Amino acid sequence: MNLDDLPIRDDLRGKSPYGAPQIDVPVRLNTNENPYPPSPGLIADLAEAVRASAADLNRYPDRDATALRADLAGYLGHGLTTEQVWAANGSNEVLQQILQAFGGHGRTAIGFEPSYSMHPIITSGTSTEWISASREDDFSIDPAKATAAIEEHRPDIVFLASPNNPTGTAQPLETIEAVVAAAPGMVVVDEAYAEFAREGTPSALTLLSAHPRLIVTRTMSKAFAMAGTRLGYLAAHPAVVEALLLVRLPYHLSTLTQAAARVALRHRAELLGTVDALRRERDDTVAWLRSKGLAVADSDANFVLFGRFPDRRKVWEGLLERGVLIREVGPPQWLRVSIGTGEEMAAFRAAMEGVL
Ligand code: PMP
Repeated sequence: MNLDDLPIRDDLRGKSPYGAPQIDVPVRLNTNENPYPPSPGLIADLAEAVRASAADLNRYPDRDATALRADLAGYLGHGLTTEQVWAANGSNEVLQQILQAFGGHGRTAIGFEPSYSMHPIITSGTSTEWISASREDDFSIDPAKATAAIEEHRPDIVFLASPNNPTGTAQPLETIEAVVAAAPGMVVVDEAYAEFAREGTPSALTLLSAHPRLIVTRTMSKAFAMAGTRLGYLAAHPAVVEALLLVRLPYHLSTLTQAAARVALRHRAELLGTVDALRRERDDTVAWLRSKGLAVADSDANFVLFGRFPDRRKVWEGLLERGVLIREVGPPQWLRVSIGTGEEMAAFRAAMEGVL
């Protein structure tokens, strides 16, 4: 028997699952993780937190993750309170819960592509119809075209990734405000990479108090270097959090996840201490790729989109042969490299020299 023989939903037939290759190579620069592992001090505190919470593992976790949400609100600042923050297993689960509450059969969500590939996948996974709008050649979003697309399609949900994956492009607050003003439903600003933004690139968190239908999602997978913990979160109006309580599974966030995330938040000075180095490495990577005559998108994230290659697969394979795994993603002639340590980026540059 194969997949086609199963009585799966018609709208899932012929679809491919999310699939960034997980290949064991010396230099992995393909899933936008933070390359710096936890320090011995943090590992010891994580182990102690697991030990302490293990005594309670016969009981379900705090269903509403109240202490963790309070810590996350404290981290975000902007006067946000526990009631305005929600958390789940990665921001992907947060996004799925948003789709479950505000999308669904007969409803639509719009995004501006190229953008994060999971937005359409989560959208169709919840039987919501995906509408693809496009970006400009420099990967920016034209506010007038965006509002026109929203007025035409009247989507229930608008996705704006800022900084955007895979292009690294951040949205000016004016564009977000124009979109919120035009949108009849919810607007989700996916800020998975917010901590990597360049000086002067603002967060949509500043807009929350004026816009009750705006949701800002974040994650501990990137700047916080906790991708393995699976902890994503959002900030929004308290009523939005109430809506998500209607769809979340009870006890979705394990006791161990909540404990580990709280330890990581206590260690945030150390964890976020790597962000400056990664930003510098990113800016150096952009400059180096440009010095090689390549096209490079401006990046506010911990990755860089570069091209244009008539045969990008060949470049990707050439790098892999040299022990460097990057991502074949985005528009056809482009490739994306995540920013690693100084040594990893030196290996990337050496491999690129070889390929070019
Ligand atoms: N949003 C964007 C834009 C991303 O690039 C990613 C990870 N690739 C996510 C959300 C999801 O991350 P996580 O589920 O690990 O929080």
